Amino acid sequence: MKKGLLLFILILGTFATYQTNLVAAEEAIIQVDNLNVRTGPGTTYDRIGKVNTNETYTILEEKGDWLKIQRNSTDGWVAKWLTKVKKDRNVVSSSHYSKYDYLRIRSAPGLDGKVRGYLMKDDQVKSQERKGRWLRIEKGKVKGWVHGDYLSKNESQSPILENKEEKKTSAQGKIKVGTSVLNVRSQNSTKGEIINQVRKGQIYDYIAKKGSWYEINLGQGKYGWIAGWLVNEVENNQSSSSTPSDSHNKNKQETYVSLIYNSTNLRNGPSTNHKILGRGHKGDRFDVIDKQGQWYKISYKDKEAYLASWIVKEFNEESSPATSPSNHTLNGKTILIDAGHGGRDPGAVGRSGSYEKSLTLDTAFLLKKELENKGAKVLMTRKDDTYISLSIRSYQSKRSNADAFVSLHYNSAPSNIVANGLNSYYYHSKDKTLATSIHNSMVNHTGLKDRGTKKGNFHVIRENNKPAVLLELGFISDAREEQTLLTSSYQQRVSQGITDGLIDYFN
Ligand SMILES: [Zn+2]
Repeated sequence: MKKGLLLFILILGTFATYQTNLVAAEEAIIQVDNLNVRTGPGTTYDRIGKVNTNETYTILEEKGDWLKIQRNSTDGWVAKWLTKVKKDRNVVSSSHYSKYDYLRIRSAPGLDGKVRGYLMKDDQVKSQERKGRWLRIEKGKVKGWVHGDYLSKNESQSPILENKEEKKTSAQGKIKVGTSVLNVRSQNSTKGEIINQVRKGQIYDYIAKKGSWYEINLGQGKYGWIAGWLVNEVENNQSSSSTPSDSHNKNKQETYVSLIYNSTNLRNGPSTNHKILGRGHKGDRFDVIDKQGQWYKISYKDKEAYLASWIVKEFNEESSPATSPSNHTLNGKTILIDAGHGGRDPGAVGRSGSYEKSLTLDTAFLLKKELENKGAKVLMTRKDDTYISLSIRSYQSKRSNADAFVSLHYNSAPSNIVANGLNSYYYHSKDKTLATSIHNSMVNHTGLKDRGTKKGNFHVIRENNKPAVLLELGFISDAREEQTLLTSSYQQRVSQGITDGLIDYFN
């Protein structure tokens, strides 16, 4: 039944997209000076203003030989024979604003269209064409289709103005920063100017919440907005001295679900009567908090939402096919972890302003824990945010007694912001087995796109006398992937992948 209905809706949707509706604006270019604008279509109507040669106006209506034009003050009528009508399909017909961050721009008017880019909340775009519910838009160099439901004719009201009147004083709650370095912005969107930065584990009072953004109190009368998906709300009685890693109990079984269909509704309660909080796409993953009847309670942008169980696939971390046999360990092995970049070298910068150097360091510590749990001895080329040259990293490896050198990086492709997935590199062909073993295990553990194992001419693995690999753990230039990579649960999964890959290699 449900499937039949769904199919029916899909078919309807397909027909709708065939109904092409070209919105072509017409404009009138005034050909004389001091042309009268009148209240109606004729010389008997009152004059309400004048227009001049070469001024261009959008035509609202046409009656006989008269045109109603749109003006900043009042709309009015002008004699058509004293204007030149420009019919141009490329003329701006309507302005729209994105209602959400990371709204996908697709190559075709449908969910099958490839993702070419994103709009951020309140980004303004012009549309010249409509197909069904999809609008063709342009943003910078990116041209494509956006679903009309996610666009608004009006810019959302400035949150800063709104908040000035109320609040500003009383704390609504507390949040703890969940990522190494988080930008504080002047408004609740990534378009807001960066006014400050806060660090992992720090706790702030927030005085307002808007969409997925929090307005926090920075002290000394200063306030700013931070992305809600990179922080966690904390109980009021939680002391700020607790370490951020406390919440990641390694014995906890992590269950997550993956969406089977595009445009899956995420709701605020366990039934289809509940409000839709957002939509997910095929392959999106969410951590499961609880299961209530036929519904999963999941974590969504660090809030909670509900997903119907019949439209998702469940995964248990422990039942993952890549889980290593428990009798295999890394006893007696020494692993040198190299967290890429650091200090004055930030590496790549992610779409939301995250730094590669911070992500690699966070992951390095999680990996260290995983490796030690399996009996390995762990060395690190850096343990904090300091700059270390490539030759020093190689030198550290050469003079160490490491059995393997693992360099951690996060990838970026600014010119192709939708590139995603995992890459693993070796330089000396004897290290290909190591790279392949780690790579396959990482892909199994994370489900990220498999971009393969390749030979790579990188200093730290070339100038190295130990088995050495360089791993690119995902693309922070892809807005959606970046949000996954920033989570501890992803970094934990990829660390388990690397650990199991090393176990396979040594056994
Ligand atoms: Zn890097």
